Amino acid sequence: MLTIICETPGVLRAETRSRPPRDRGEVLLRVRRVGVCGTDLHIFTGNQPFLAYPRVMGHELSGTVEEADTDSGLDAGDPVYVMPYLSCGQCIACRNGKTNCCVNIQVLGVHRDGALTEYLSLPRQFVHKAEGITLDQAAMIEFLAIGAHAVRRADVQAGQRVLVVGAGPIGMAAMIFSRLRGATVTALDTRLDRLNFCAEKIEVAATVQIGDTDVDELAKLTDGEFFDVVFDATGNPAAMERGFEFIAHGGKYVLISVVRDKITFSDPEFHKREATLIGSRNATAEDFETVLRAMRAGQVPDAALNTHRMKLADVPAEFSKLLEPSAGVVKAIVEC
Ligand SMILES: [Zn+2]
Ligand SMILES: [Zn+2]
Repeated sequence: MLTIICETPGVLRAETRSRPPRDRGEVLLRVRRVGVCGTDLHIFTGNQPFLAYPRVMGHELSGTVEEADTDSGLDAGDPVYVMPYLSCGQCIACRNGKTNCCVNIQVLGVHRDGALTEYLSLPRQFVHKAEGITLDQAAMIEFLAIGAHAVRRADVQAGQRVLVVGAGPIGMAAMIFSRLRGATVTALDTRLDRLNFCAEKIEVAATVQIGDTDVDELAKLTDGEFFDVVFDATGNPAAMERGFEFIAHGGKYVLISVVRDKITFSDPEFHKREATLIGSRNATAEDFETVLRAMRAGQVPDAALNTHRMKLADVPAEFSKLLEPSAGVVKAIVEC
C-alpha cells in the first residue's frame, strides 16, 4: 500500500508498505480522506517538539471499514471517523472520562504512525460510524471537535460576548460552536484575509485586526466591559499573555494553544477580575458527537473551510505549497 513518510523535517517520500494485520478487537480501515493540520505542518518543518522521525503524519481522517469483528457493530463498507487520541483507559484522566488528556496518550500521526496511507488497523473504541455526513465532512470532525471541546469547557452561554484570538482552523471552530450556543463572537487576528473569511463564512459579529488600536476597538465593541469568554488559539506566547487584558470582570480565559514557553500574567489584574483560567486539550467522544450533529443539521460551513485538496500520491510534491500564507489555506484534504 502507498504510504507517505516524513523522513526528516522537509523530506516527504512515497513508500510501499504491506497492509497492517488486524488483531481481534481491532478494525481494519481503508483510509479515504485525511485533513492536514497545523501539527502536520510543524512535523514537516521540524517544529513539533519531541517528535521521532521517520513518521507517517495524519490524525484527521475518515475511511470505510475493510474488516471488523462480527460482533463489533461495524460492517465492511461502513463510513467511519476516527478519534485519533488513543487513550489507555486506566489512568486518572481516563477513569474520570477525560480521555482527551490521558496520561499515556498516543496520538495518531504524532506518537505513532498516522493516516497518510491506504490502510490502518485501530482498536474498535476509537472508530465511530459517520452516518449522515460525507467522507470529507467526517475528516473534518477532529479539528472542529477541538473547538467544540473548548466551548464546552468554557460553558459558553447565549448572549455572552466571546472573543477568539487566532483565526486559524481551531479558532474558527471555537467561533462556530460559540455562535451555535448563541454567543456574540468577535475574531481577533493579524491577518485580514482570515478575518474576512470569518466575517463572510462563519458570520462572526465583528472582526478586529491586531494593531495599535485593537484594544480600543475591542473596548468599543463591549461598552468598555470586554469579553465574558476569551479563547486563545494563536500558538503564540506573547498573544497568550496579552489575552488576559481582554477578559471581562468575572470572565473566563481558555487556552487552546500550547507553547513550549512559560506564560506569565499580572496577579492583580487577574485577581480583580476574579478570572477563571482554563486549559483545553484535544476533545472527547462527546465533542465529536456535538460536531457530527451540527454537521448533519447543516450548521457548519465545512465546504467553505475545505479550501484545498490533493491526492495521496501528490503529497510529496505539493505539501510544501500549503505553507505559503498567500495560498489562503484553511483546511486541506488529502484523498487516499
Ligand atoms: Zn489536527
Ligand atoms: Zn489514560
